[in-house]
Amino acid sequence: MGKLLEKLKVSKVLSSDGAWGTLLQAKGLKPGECPESWNLDHPDEVTDIAALYIKAGADMVETNSFGGSIFKLSHYGLEQKVTEINRLAAELSRKAAGREKFVLGSIGPTGKILMMGEVSEKELYEAFCEQSKALASGGADAIVVETMSDLDEARIAVKAAHENTSCEVICTMTFEKTVNGEYRTMMGVSPAEMVPVVKDAGADIIGANCGNGIEGMIHIVREIRIVDPDIPVLVHANAGLPRYDEGKAVFPESPEEMASYVPSLVGAGANIIGGCCGTTPDHIRLICDALKMYR
Ligand SMILES: [Zn+2]
Repeated sequence: MGKLLEKLKVSKVLSSDGAWGTLLQAKGLKPGECPESWNLDHPDEVTDIAALYIKAGADMVETNSFGGSIFKLSHYGLEQKVTEINRLAAELSRKAAGREKFVLGSIGPTGKILMMGEVSEKELYEAFCEQSKALASGGADAIVVETMSDLDEARIAVKAAHENTSCEVICTMTFEKTVNGEYRTMMGVSPAEMVPVVKDAGADIIGANCGNGIEGMIHIVREIRIVDPDIPVLVHANAGLPRYDEGKAVFPESPEEMASYVPSLVGAGANIIGGCCGTTPDHIRLICDALKMYR
């Protein structure tokens, strides 16, 4: 059993970090600039973001590598730097996390659609293998495959991380509420459908990230718990459904509002709670406070 699962056995619930993009933008990341290039050009700023979340009380921090696959980095002419950028991502978060806290190596979607034949399963596997090996070599404890909407892509990413690293593997997909009141990914996958597929591919921890806000996560966690009472569940919720103000996303949920849902989320069966788009160190601080009574 890996370190993170061991810790979960003892603590039952853990906290995770919040949004990275929002903080990178606050530090000067420009529209159209490659966020992951900051690992090369502004390493101290990247470490500082991880440090802000650790200081807020998070038990784990992600890495600045969400778009670190060769498919994403090649948009910026960085296809030769995949290994370096991902290794650095893990090293920079590790610097902030120290030995006591966990580093989750972030892997997001490639943007290539299998179903449309834009990419083959083998190409996807190789890309995720390269990225996860680099994150592991930089010291990630776990790999978090996140914001997935295609179950095949999620499965391949989990499999690649599981087969090519000794890291624990987390997989979260992004579900949105449909007009029928059900939760589905953009590609139509339900939480219940996700569970057996990503578990079979090697996921140790599963869950949901991004989406419409923290309240919907309660339903998603319940649906996961119906099909699997035991697997640890991670939730990285957005700070609500964004409104667009002159093209800029504004997230409505305050730290207090998000933290008020923590008891219901834990009651539904969530084990790790953190944030996604629009969440800040203040959101994480209050979520950590709300989690204290369960540990
Ligand atoms: Zn998000």
